[in-house]
Amino acid sequence: MTIPESLNGFYASPVAINTDKKWIIAVIDGDILVVSGARSSGPVIDSDATDLLKFFCERRITLGQWQGRDCEVWELLPEAAATEGFTMIELRTLLMSAGDEEFSLACRAVQLLDWQDKHRFCGSCGERNIASDSEHALECKVCKINNYPRISPCIIVLVIRGDHCLLARNSSWPANRFSALAGFLEAGETAEQALHREVFEEVGVQINNIRYFGSQSWPYPGQLMLGFIADAVTDDITIDGIEIAEADWFRYDNLPGIIAPPTIMSGRLLQQYIDESTLTYG
Ligand SMILES: [Zn+2]
Repeated sequence: MTIPESLNGFYASPVAINTDKKWIIAVIDGDILVVSGARSSGPVIDSDATDLLKFFCERRITLGQWQGRDCEVWELLPEAAATEGFTMIELRTLLMSAGDEEFSLACRAVQLLDWQDKHRFCGSCGERNIASDSEHALECKVCKINNYPRISPCIIVLVIRGDHCLLARNSSWPANRFSALAGFLEAGETAEQALHREVFEEVGVQINNIRYFGSQSWPYPGQLMLGFIADAVTDDITIDGIEIAEADWFRYDNLPGIIAPPTIMSGRLLQQYIDESTLTYG
């Protein structure tokens, strides 16, 4: 099988092509076991290095292929964390520094395990679901209902007004940590409707000229972040006081102390805005 170059070697599939060597993502309780020190290759472990981990493996799921090799997630017993040559790393910490494909693989690994754990029984009749051999589906043999991994779309939007952008602090965050606005799509809503609604609900601002920027998986749990940039039509801020504790307009070269790194969507949107503003106003 030839994988399109545009996929950068990542091919999400439930089907293994039975390559001699594999890539393994080792998950313990939602966090990732990586090779320690300089030999570390992020969340992906060469199958040659996984002999010590096999004993602890409780569950395997095919993730697809990466760089021409089959890739699997292994769920390991907690005792595996003490294996010599390996180190535990929190998923969130790993995502802050992972490359695009490693990011996708780690999200996929953790999401599939989490999905199987939370869909063990049929939501209609309560019968135990059976995992399909041919696809990532959990089937109720009684109701003939297939359950697929649940993906929940969210919008995240950087609202801009010339050389200023609108950032907000969630009420559970520390002082000086700010982000673009985000929220889940409601059932029946378009992404555009969700953007207008979320921005208005959270900060009381109206927007137009919405530009799609890109998307990213986010495993808390199963979110698909749809990133946008939009222009403000109004600029008076009225925070909701519940989800949002603080919001303000920040000049592109004078942003708050704690913002997201460019590996995640909030940081990507900001980086794009900083780059464009530097050219325009710098
Ligand atoms: Zn059922």
